[in-house]
Amino acid sequence: MKEILIAYQGEMALKGLNRNVFENKLMQTMRRRLKPLGSFRVYNAQSTMYAEPLDDGADMDAAFLAVSRIFGIAALSRAAVVEKDFGAICETARTYLADRLTAARTFKVAAKRSDKSFSMNSMEIAAQLGGYLLEHYPHLRVDVKHPELTVMVEVRDFGAYVHGGKQPGAGGLPVGSSGKAAVMLSGGIDSPVAAYMMAKRGLALMGVHFASPPYTSERAKMKVITLSEKVEAYCGPHLLCVVPFTDVQLHIRDNAPTELFTLLLRRSMMRITETLGRQYGCDAIVTGESLAQVASQTTQAIGCTDLATQLPVLRPLIGMDKNEIVEIARRIDTFETSILPYEDCCTIFTPAHPKTRPHIQEILAAEAGMDLAPLEEAAVQAVEKIRIQQG
Ligand code: ATP
Ligand code: MG
Repeated sequence: MKEILIAYQGEMALKGLNRNVFENKLMQTMRRRLKPLGSFRVYNAQSTMYAEPLDDGADMDAAFLAVSRIFGIAALSRAAVVEKDFGAICETARTYLADRLTAARTFKVAAKRSDKSFSMNSMEIAAQLGGYLLEHYPHLRVDVKHPELTVMVEVRDFGAYVHGGKQPGAGGLPVGSSGKAAVMLSGGIDSPVAAYMMAKRGLALMGVHFASPPYTSERAKMKVITLSEKVEAYCGPHLLCVVPFTDVQLHIRDNAPTELFTLLLRRSMMRITETLGRQYGCDAIVTGESLAQVASQTTQAIGCTDLATQLPVLRPLIGMDKNEIVEIARRIDTFETSILPYEDCCTIFTPAHPKTRPHIQEILAAEAGMDLAPLEEAAVQAVEKIRIQQG
Protein backbone atom coordinates (compact mmCIF):
# COMPACT_ATOMS: atom_id res chain seq x y z
CA MET A 1 0.00 0.00 0.00
CA LYS A 2 1.32 3.40 -0.96
CA GLU A 3 1.59 5.89 1.88
CA ILE A 4 2.02 9.65 1.99
CA LEU A 5 2.51 12.35 4.63
CA ILE A 6 0.00 15.18 4.60
CA ALA A 7 0.90 18.39 6.44
CA TYR A 8 -1.74 20.99 7.20
CA GLN A 9 -0.79 24.61 7.63
CA GLY A 10 -1.57 26.66 10.69
CA GLU A 11 -1.68 30.42 11.09
CA MET A 12 0.30 30.86 7.94
CA ALA A 13 -2.86 30.51 5.91
CA LEU A 14 -3.87 33.89 7.35
CA LYS A 15 -0.89 35.72 6.01
CA GLY A 16 -2.37 36.60 2.63
CA LEU A 17 0.13 38.05 0.24
CA ASN A 18 3.23 36.43 1.67
CA ARG A 19 1.66 33.05 1.53
CA ASN A 20 3.62 31.78 -1.43
CA VAL A 21 6.87 32.79 0.16
CA PHE A 22 5.95 30.98 3.37
CA GLU A 23 4.77 27.89 1.58
CA ASN A 24 7.99 27.72 -0.36
CA LYS A 25 10.05 28.11 2.82
CA LEU A 26 8.06 25.36 4.43
CA MET A 27 8.53 22.99 1.52
CA GLN A 28 12.23 23.79 1.44
CA THR A 29 12.43 22.86 5.13
CA MET A 30 10.48 19.65 4.55
CA ARG A 31 12.81 18.65 1.72
CA ARG A 32 15.88 19.30 3.85
CA ARG A 33 14.52 17.35 6.82
CA LEU A 34 13.40 14.42 4.69
CA LYS A 35 16.53 14.16 2.58
CA PRO A 36 18.42 11.82 4.93
CA LEU A 37 15.32 9.63 5.33
CA GLY A 38 14.70 8.55 1.75
CA SER A 39 13.64 9.87 -1.59
CA PHE A 40 10.53 12.07 -1.32
CA ARG A 41 8.59 14.35 -3.62
CA VAL A 42 7.34 17.38 -1.69
CA TYR A 43 4.58 19.53 -3.18
CA ASN A 44 1.60 21.58 -2.11
CA ALA A 45 -1.96 22.12 -3.20
CA GLN A 46 -4.82 23.96 -1.53
CA SER A 47 -2.77 25.06 1.53
CA THR A 48 -1.75 21.49 2.21
CA MET A 49 1.74 20.00 1.78
CA TYR A 50 2.44 16.49 0.69
CA ALA A 51 5.55 14.38 1.12
CA GLU A 52 5.31 11.39 -1.15
CA PRO A 53 7.94 8.66 -0.89
CA LEU A 54 9.26 7.74 -4.31
CA ASP A 55 10.38 4.24 -3.42
CA ASP A 56 10.02 1.60 -0.71
CA GLY A 57 13.22 2.63 1.02
CA ALA A 58 11.78 5.69 2.78
CA ASP A 59 11.65 5.60 6.57
CA MET A 60 8.07 6.78 7.13
CA ASP A 61 8.23 6.69 10.95
CA ALA A 62 11.27 8.95 11.00
CA ALA A 63 9.77 11.14 8.28
CA PHE A 64 6.60 11.61 10.32
CA LEU A 65 8.66 12.60 13.36
CA ALA A 66 10.80 15.01 11.33
CA VAL A 67 7.78 16.74 9.80
CA SER A 68 6.07 16.93 13.19
CA ARG A 69 8.92 19.20 14.34
CA ILE A 70 8.61 21.75 11.57
CA PHE A 71 7.14 25.05 12.69
CA GLY A 72 4.28 26.32 10.55
CA ILE A 73 2.68 22.92 10.31
CA ALA A 74 -0.40 22.77 12.52
CA ALA A 75 -1.25 19.12 12.03
CA LEU A 76 -0.15 16.15 10.01
CA SER A 77 -1.28 12.72 9.04
CA ARG A 78 0.23 9.62 7.60
CA ALA A 79 -2.20 8.27 5.06
CA ALA A 80 -2.77 5.54 2.52
CA VAL A 81 -3.08 6.79 -1.05
CA VAL A 82 -6.06 5.38 -2.90
CA GLU A 83 -7.71 5.96 -6.25
CA LYS A 84 -10.82 8.11 -6.26
CA ASP A 85 -13.23 5.22 -6.23
CA PHE A 86 -15.56 4.56 -3.33
CA GLY A 87 -15.08 0.78 -3.42
CA ALA A 88 -11.32 1.20 -3.28
CA ILE A 89 -11.66 3.71 -0.44
CA CYS A 90 -13.71 1.23 1.63
CA GLU A 91 -11.30 -1.60 0.99
CA THR A 92 -8.29 0.57 1.87
CA ALA A 93 -9.87 1.88 5.10
CA ARG A 94 -10.69 -1.69 6.17
CA THR A 95 -7.18 -3.04 5.58
CA TYR A 96 -4.91 -0.04 6.17
CA LEU A 97 -6.49 0.75 9.53
CA ALA A 98 -7.17 -2.89 10.50
CA ASP A 99 -5.07 -2.83 13.68
CA ARG A 100 -6.59 0.35 14.94
CA LEU A 101 -10.13 -0.64 13.99
CA THR A 102 -9.63 -3.88 15.90
CA ALA A 103 -8.21 -2.15 18.98
CA ALA A 104 -10.81 0.64 19.16
CA ARG A 105 -14.20 0.30 20.77
CA THR A 106 -15.74 3.45 19.31
CA PHE A 107 -15.12 5.26 16.03
CA LYS A 108 -16.50 7.71 13.55
CA VAL A 109 -15.79 8.48 9.92
CA ALA A 110 -15.03 12.02 8.86
CA ALA A 111 -14.77 12.90 5.19
CA LYS A 112 -13.51 15.92 3.33
CA ARG A 113 -14.16 16.34 -0.34
CA SER A 114 -12.38 19.23 -2.01
CA ASP A 115 -12.61 17.60 -5.45
CA LYS A 116 -16.23 18.46 -6.18
CA SER A 117 -16.27 16.21 -9.25
CA PHE A 118 -16.28 13.19 -6.97
CA SER A 119 -19.78 11.72 -7.13
CA MET A 120 -20.49 11.45 -3.38
CA ASN A 121 -20.48 14.35 -0.94
CA SER A 122 -18.68 14.15 2.39
CA MET A 123 -21.84 13.23 4.34
CA GLU A 124 -22.53 10.33 2.01
CA ILE A 125 -18.92 9.12 2.17
CA ALA A 126 -18.96 9.22 5.97
CA ALA A 127 -22.31 7.45 6.32
CA GLN A 128 -21.64 4.70 3.80
CA LEU A 129 -18.06 4.01 4.84
CA GLY A 130 -19.22 3.97 8.49
CA GLY A 131 -21.79 1.31 7.62
CA TYR A 132 -19.25 -0.72 5.68
CA LEU A 133 -16.72 -0.70 8.55
CA LEU A 134 -19.41 -1.68 11.09
CA GLU A 135 -20.16 -4.74 8.97
CA HIS A 136 -16.51 -5.79 9.02
CA TYR A 137 -15.79 -4.82 12.62
CA PRO A 138 -19.07 -5.60 14.41
CA HIS A 139 -17.58 -4.96 17.88
CA LEU A 140 -17.34 -1.24 17.04
CA ARG A 141 -19.80 1.42 18.09
CA VAL A 142 -20.20 4.81 16.49
CA ASP A 143 -19.45 7.74 18.77
CA VAL A 144 -19.44 11.07 16.93
CA LYS A 145 -18.45 13.17 19.98
CA HIS A 146 -15.53 11.30 21.55
CA PRO A 147 -14.52 8.43 19.28
CA GLU A 148 -11.38 6.46 20.10
CA LEU A 149 -10.62 6.36 16.39
CA THR A 150 -11.52 8.80 13.65
CA VAL A 151 -11.32 7.28 10.19
CA MET A 152 -10.65 10.16 7.88
CA VAL A 153 -11.16 10.19 4.12
CA GLU A 154 -9.93 13.13 2.10
CA VAL A 155 -10.84 13.34 -1.57
CA ARG A 156 -8.54 15.97 -2.98
CA ASP A 157 -7.27 17.12 -6.37
CA PHE A 158 -4.43 14.65 -6.85
CA GLY A 159 -5.94 11.64 -5.14
CA ALA A 160 -7.88 10.26 -2.23
CA TYR A 161 -6.32 9.57 1.15
CA VAL A 162 -7.37 7.45 4.10
CA HIS A 163 -5.93 7.83 7.58
CA GLY A 164 -6.66 7.45 11.26
CA GLY A 165 -6.96 11.13 12.11
CA LYS A 166 -4.66 14.15 12.17
CA GLN A 167 -1.92 14.46 14.78
CA PRO A 168 -0.88 17.82 16.17
CA GLY A 169 2.16 19.35 14.45
CA ALA A 170 4.71 21.75 15.92
CA GLY A 171 2.43 24.75 15.29
CA GLY A 172 3.84 28.26 15.08
CA LEU A 173 5.12 29.93 11.93
CA PRO A 174 7.73 28.81 9.38
CA VAL A 175 11.23 29.70 10.55
CA GLY A 176 12.35 32.88 8.80
CA SER A 177 8.86 34.20 8.18
CA SER A 178 9.20 36.67 11.09
CA GLY A 179 12.76 37.80 10.30
CA LYS A 180 15.93 36.98 12.18
CA ALA A 181 17.31 37.39 15.70
CA ALA A 182 20.52 36.75 17.61
CA VAL A 183 19.93 34.41 20.53
CA MET A 184 22.34 34.61 23.46
CA LEU A 185 23.19 31.03 24.39
CA SER A 186 24.81 30.38 27.75
CA GLY A 187 24.81 26.61 27.99
CA GLY A 188 22.19 26.73 30.76
CA ILE A 189 18.66 25.37 30.71
CA ASP A 190 16.88 28.56 29.77
CA SER A 191 18.46 29.94 26.63
CA PRO A 192 17.92 26.90 24.36
CA VAL A 193 14.26 26.93 25.39
CA ALA A 194 14.08 30.63 24.55
CA ALA A 195 15.62 29.88 21.14
CA TYR A 196 13.07 27.15 20.50
CA MET A 197 10.18 29.41 21.47
CA MET A 198 11.20 32.28 19.21
CA ALA A 199 11.93 29.94 16.29
CA LYS A 200 8.38 28.76 16.79
CA ARG A 201 7.14 32.29 16.18
CA GLY A 202 8.94 32.32 12.85
CA LEU A 203 12.32 33.84 13.72
CA ALA A 204 15.43 32.56 12.01
CA LEU A 205 18.26 32.54 14.53
CA MET A 206 21.96 32.96 14.94
CA GLY A 207 23.58 31.98 18.22
CA VAL A 208 25.98 34.12 20.24
CA HIS A 209 27.98 32.55 23.06
CA PHE A 210 30.44 34.34 25.32
CA ALA A 211 33.41 32.29 26.46
CA SER A 212 36.12 33.39 28.86
CA PRO A 213 39.00 30.97 28.56
CA PRO A 214 40.83 29.83 30.60
CA TYR A 215 38.17 30.57 33.22
CA THR A 216 35.63 28.76 31.09
CA SER A 217 36.66 25.49 29.51
CA GLU A 218 36.63 23.99 26.04
CA ARG A 219 34.04 21.54 27.36
CA ALA A 220 31.70 24.43 28.21
CA LYS A 221 31.99 25.60 24.62
CA MET A 222 31.38 22.08 23.27
CA LYS A 223 28.26 21.94 25.40
CA VAL A 224 26.90 25.06 23.70
CA ILE A 225 27.68 23.54 20.30
CA THR A 226 25.76 20.39 21.28
CA LEU A 227 22.82 22.49 22.46
CA SER A 228 22.86 24.45 19.21
CA GLU A 229 22.74 21.18 17.30
CA LYS A 230 19.73 20.08 19.28
CA VAL A 231 17.93 23.36 18.69
CA GLU A 232 18.82 23.04 15.00
CA ALA A 233 16.17 20.33 14.70
CA TYR A 234 13.65 23.16 15.10
CA CYS A 235 15.31 26.37 13.88
CA GLY A 236 17.33 24.90 11.01
CA PRO A 237 20.99 25.35 10.07
CA HIS A 238 22.49 28.49 11.55
CA LEU A 239 25.63 30.27 12.62
CA LEU A 240 27.02 30.16 16.16
CA CYS A 241 29.39 32.99 17.10
CA VAL A 242 31.68 32.26 20.03
CA VAL A 243 32.97 35.54 21.46
CA PRO A 244 36.29 35.54 23.37
CA PHE A 245 35.19 37.57 26.36
CA THR A 246 38.02 37.19 28.87
CA ASP A 247 39.62 40.61 28.37
CA VAL A 248 36.32 42.48 28.67
CA GLN A 249 35.43 40.50 31.72
CA LEU A 250 38.76 41.08 33.49
CA HIS A 251 38.65 44.77 32.66
CA ILE A 252 35.21 45.10 34.26
CA ARG A 253 36.31 43.08 37.28
CA ASP A 254 39.33 45.29 37.83
CA ASN A 255 37.83 48.70 37.04
CA ALA A 256 34.25 48.88 38.24
CA PRO A 257 32.30 48.57 41.49
CA THR A 258 31.96 44.89 42.39
CA GLU A 259 28.22 44.99 43.00
CA LEU A 260 27.65 46.20 39.42
CA PHE A 261 29.90 43.57 37.84
CA THR A 262 27.21 41.25 36.44
CA LEU A 263 25.14 44.06 35.05
CA LEU A 264 28.08 45.72 33.36
CA LEU A 265 29.01 42.37 31.92
CA ARG A 266 25.51 41.85 30.58
CA ARG A 267 25.43 45.29 29.00
CA SER A 268 28.69 44.55 27.26
CA MET A 269 27.26 41.26 26.01
CA MET A 270 24.27 43.14 24.63
CA ARG A 271 26.45 45.61 22.75
CA ILE A 272 28.57 42.86 21.22
CA THR A 273 25.50 40.77 20.36
CA GLU A 274 23.93 43.80 18.68
CA THR A 275 27.06 44.41 16.59
CA LEU A 276 27.27 40.77 15.52
CA GLY A 277 23.53 40.54 14.97
CA ARG A 278 23.50 43.55 12.68
CA GLN A 279 26.29 42.02 10.60
CA TYR A 280 23.99 39.10 9.86
CA GLY A 281 20.68 40.89 9.40
CA CYS A 282 19.16 40.41 12.85
CA ASP A 283 16.42 42.75 14.05
CA ALA A 284 16.20 41.53 17.62
CA ILE A 285 18.07 39.85 20.49
CA VAL A 286 16.66 36.82 22.33
CA THR A 287 17.64 35.84 25.88
CA GLY A 288 16.54 33.17 28.33
CA GLU A 289 15.86 35.59 31.17
CA SER A 290 12.94 34.98 33.49
CA LEU A 291 11.72 37.64 35.90
CA ALA A 292 13.42 37.62 39.30
CA GLN A 293 15.20 34.30 38.75
CA VAL A 294 18.55 35.89 39.63
CA ALA A 295 19.77 39.36 40.66
CA SER A 296 20.31 40.47 37.07
CA GLN A 297 16.72 39.63 36.21
CA THR A 298 14.84 42.15 38.35
CA THR A 299 12.81 44.75 36.46
CA GLN A 300 15.42 47.40 37.34
CA ALA A 301 18.32 45.26 36.16
CA ILE A 302 16.52 44.32 32.98
CA GLY A 303 15.80 48.01 32.42
CA CYS A 304 19.51 48.81 32.66
CA THR A 305 20.39 45.90 30.36
CA ASP A 306 17.91 46.98 27.71
CA LEU A 307 19.36 50.49 27.58
CA ALA A 308 22.63 49.04 26.28
CA THR A 309 21.09 48.15 22.93
CA GLN A 310 18.88 49.69 20.29
CA LEU A 311 17.52 46.31 19.29
CA PRO A 312 14.38 44.93 20.92
CA VAL A 313 15.27 42.25 23.46
CA LEU A 314 12.83 39.35 23.36
CA ARG A 315 12.53 37.29 26.53
CA PRO A 316 10.03 34.53 25.87
CA LEU A 317 10.56 32.96 29.31
CA ILE A 318 9.98 36.15 31.28
CA GLY A 319 6.76 34.92 32.93
CA MET A 320 7.60 31.27 33.28
CA ASP A 321 8.54 29.25 36.35
CA LYS A 322 11.64 27.08 36.28
CA ASN A 323 9.62 23.85 36.23
CA GLU A 324 7.68 25.03 33.19
CA ILE A 325 10.95 25.82 31.43
CA VAL A 326 12.40 22.44 32.39
CA GLU A 327 9.37 20.70 30.95
CA ILE A 328 10.00 22.26 27.55
CA ALA A 329 13.75 21.60 27.82
CA ARG A 330 12.99 17.91 28.32
CA ARG A 331 10.56 17.84 25.44
CA ILE A 332 13.08 19.38 23.01
CA ASP A 333 15.84 17.16 24.42
CA THR A 334 18.18 19.92 25.62
CA PHE A 335 17.77 19.35 29.36
CA GLU A 336 20.30 16.56 29.87
CA THR A 337 22.97 18.54 28.05
CA SER A 338 22.13 21.80 29.83
CA ILE A 339 22.63 20.33 33.29
CA LEU A 340 26.19 19.18 32.60
CA PRO A 341 28.12 21.06 35.26
CA TYR A 342 30.39 23.33 33.23
CA GLU A 343 31.07 26.90 34.22
CA ASP A 344 29.58 29.89 32.40
CA CYS A 345 31.25 33.28 32.07
CA CYS A 346 28.29 34.80 33.91
CA THR A 347 29.05 32.67 36.94
CA ILE A 348 32.73 33.42 37.34
CA PHE A 349 33.83 36.43 39.43
CA THR A 350 30.21 37.03 40.41
CA PRO A 351 29.92 39.36 43.39
CA ALA A 352 28.49 38.04 46.66
CA HIS A 353 26.06 40.95 46.82
CA PRO A 354 25.04 42.06 43.35
CA LYS A 355 22.88 45.14 43.18
CA THR A 356 19.27 44.14 42.52
CA ARG A 357 17.94 47.68 42.11
CA PRO A 358 20.59 49.34 40.00
CA HIS A 359 20.15 52.83 38.67
CA ILE A 360 21.15 53.61 35.12
CA GLN A 361 23.09 56.70 36.28
CA GLU A 362 25.50 54.65 38.38
CA ILE A 363 25.88 52.16 35.56
CA LEU A 364 26.74 54.88 33.06
CA ALA A 365 29.18 56.42 35.56
CA ALA A 366 30.91 53.05 35.98
CA GLU A 367 31.15 52.61 32.22
CA ALA A 368 32.56 56.14 31.84
CA GLY A 369 35.37 55.11 34.17
CA MET A 370 36.42 52.24 31.92
CA ASP A 371 37.61 51.91 28.37
CA LEU A 372 35.50 49.00 27.15
CA ALA A 373 34.91 49.98 23.53
CA PRO A 374 38.30 48.85 22.14
CA LEU A 375 38.09 45.57 24.07
CA GLU A 376 34.58 44.92 22.77
CA GLU A 377 35.73 45.79 19.26
CA ALA A 378 38.62 43.33 19.57
CA ALA A 379 36.27 40.64 20.87
CA VAL A 380 34.01 41.12 17.83
CA GLN A 381 37.02 40.86 15.53
CA ALA A 382 38.17 37.64 17.16
CA VAL A 383 34.81 35.85 17.08
CA GLU A 384 34.93 32.16 16.18
CA LYS A 385 32.19 31.34 13.67
CA ILE A 386 30.78 27.85 13.73
CA ARG A 387 28.25 26.56 11.21
CA ILE A 388 25.61 24.45 12.96
CA GLN A 389 24.08 21.96 10.58
CA GLN A 390 22.81 18.48 11.33
CA GLY A 391 23.01 15.60 8.89
P1 ATP B 1 20.47 30.04 31.24
O1 ATP B 1 19.77 28.90 31.87
O2 ATP B 1 20.06 30.28 29.83
O3 ATP B 1 21.96 29.96 31.43
P2 ATP B 1 20.23 31.64 33.59
O4 ATP B 1 18.96 31.49 34.29
O5 ATP B 1 21.41 30.89 34.07
O6 ATP B 1 20.00 31.34 32.04
P3 ATP B 1 21.82 34.04 33.44
O7 ATP B 1 23.07 33.29 33.60
O8 ATP B 1 21.61 35.29 34.22
O9 ATP B 1 20.51 33.20 33.65
O10 ATP B 1 21.69 34.44 31.92
C1 ATP B 1 20.52 35.04 31.45
C2 ATP B 1 20.56 34.99 29.93
O11 ATP B 1 21.71 35.67 29.44
C3 ATP B 1 20.71 33.58 29.39
O12 ATP B 1 19.47 32.93 29.27
C4 ATP B 1 21.34 33.84 28.07
O13 ATP B 1 20.37 34.25 27.12
C5 ATP B 1 22.28 35.00 28.37
N1 ATP B 1 23.62 34.51 28.72
C6 ATP B 1 24.13 34.22 29.93
N2 ATP B 1 25.40 33.79 29.84
C7 ATP B 1 25.72 33.79 28.54
C8 ATP B 1 26.88 33.43 27.78
N3 ATP B 1 27.98 32.97 28.34
N4 ATP B 1 26.82 33.57 26.43
C9 ATP B 1 25.72 34.01 25.83
N5 ATP B 1 24.59 34.36 26.48
C10 ATP B 1 24.59 34.25 27.82
MG1 MG C 1 23.19 30.63 32.98
